[in-house]
Amino acid sequence: MELLNRRTVLKSAAAAGAATGFLPGAVHAAAAGAELFTSDEAGLLVDSVVVLGEKSAVLIDAQFTAGNASLLADMIAGTGRTLESILITHVHPDHILGLPVLLDRFPDAKAYAQTDIQAILAQILGGMHAQIAGGAPAGVFADRFVVPEALSADHILLEGERIEILPPMAGDTALITPVHIPSLDTLIATDVAYIDTHLWMEEVATTGTEGWRASVESLRGIGAKTVIPGHRKSGSPNDSTVFDATLAYLDHWEAARAASANAEDFRTKLMDGTEDLGFGFAIDRGVAAAFPA
Ligand SMILES: [Zn+2]
Repeated sequence: MELLNRRTVLKSAAAAGAATGFLPGAVHAAAAGAELFTSDEAGLLVDSVVVLGEKSAVLIDAQFTAGNASLLADMIAGTGRTLESILITHVHPDHILGLPVLLDRFPDAKAYAQTDIQAILAQILGGMHAQIAGGAPAGVFADRFVVPEALSADHILLEGERIEILPPMAGDTALITPVHIPSLDTLIATDVAYIDTHLWMEEVATTGTEGWRASVESLRGIGAKTVIPGHRKSGSPNDSTVFDATLAYLDHWEAARAASANAEDFRTKLMDGTEDLGFGFAIDRGVAAAFPA
């Protein structure tokens, strides 16, 4: 089984239709496996993965804006599967604020986060939602928030197949649970890996990048064929090059910072060679954290 992005799925469905004489179906024509949803730039180019069983599905991460969460819900509905579980991999808003939209569409689904991550969400999610949704026009974000249930198990079962939830590790925040699906030879790195985008550096600007780098090497060591980053441009690769891209950006960011005397200087050096990357929203916050006013 191979993880397919939506365009590939549709292409495959069209090819299958041509071969069998059936008109190409929608996404439900795809074989069991997984499907990928990457948001638009307004949604911060964040990835969600829908893991497909024969009849049921599990979603990894729930998007940022209501619009992207709604498109993701349409995609899940199109698979014809029953959404059983939603795993939130870390506490950042771009992976959880869309959750109510998904639960409205799939009210029988249960949302989870690893125990330590859930405990933090229970403390901060309300304030985070008020700040972000309250500062945006009505309808951009869900009008409420949902704290997921605590999950102490190290896996979720989908029709007998193990979806392994890795122990929390550092990435763009201190605690992230990437997901390994051995039966698909697929690793969902979430915000331990990015490609073709800027990285969210606000938190590691003070803590340093050593923990993040160690996580990258630990995930690389799993050797999964398909690797899904947390943020990317649509069409970016789903393989181990996401690790190289992440480390290269960390190197660039740290070299630019070390060579800079102030925020303006740092911003100029940081942007040199990174003009084409997505997720530009991350730049100002990272620069401000490195050189506080
Ligand atoms: Zn993220």
